[in-house]
Amino acid sequence: MNHDRVEALVDELLREMGEDPQREGLKKTPHRVARAFEFLTSGYGVRMEDLVNGAIFNQQTNNMIIAKDIELYSLCEHHLLPFFGRCHIGYISKGKVFGISKLARLVNMYARRLQIQERLTEQIARVIRDGIGAEGVGVIIEARHLCMMMRGVEKQNSVMITSSVLGSFHRSAATRNEFLSLIGGSR
Ligand SMILES: [Zn+2]
Repeated sequence: MNHDRVEALVDELLREMGEDPQREGLKKTPHRVARAFEFLTSGYGVRMEDLVNGAIFNQQTNNMIIAKDIELYSLCEHHLLPFFGRCHIGYISKGKVFGISKLARLVNMYARRLQIQERLTEQIARVIRDGIGAEGVGVIIEARHLCMMMRGVEKQNSVMITSSVLGSFHRSAATRNEFLSLIGGSR
């Protein structure tokens, strides 16, 4: 991002809102907004290889590995407003597993972009499958969307739930059910 240009755009936006960008409270707002958006979209600059570098381990296990309640913050691409919630991940490895903190980083890599929840869910599932060749992956995201809560239909309590299941999670109802029961405690 070109900071000067983004600041000029935010300054312009403030004027269009009928505000005075020179008043004290707003003087540094264009600068802050530019930095905030740089961070909130920093996932575009992250490469999967760098992110998991050294954190894929060999381990013979056919058990399901679960990481639940991973905090998630993203921006809806339709309104540039936040959606936020929790991500639950399950996978069955074929000899390789991720270090636990890496799953959260993989979530952030895709969440810190302009997103729709469905695509975000799918991307997380695919990167886990492709990253370690997992034989099956399940991802569920439960999120609240400020674009729904603050504007439009103003449904303050609605939670959107999306899921993506790949490989054995897709083929086997038993595997899917095990995943759901293991993450079920969080709801
Ligand atoms: Zn939206």
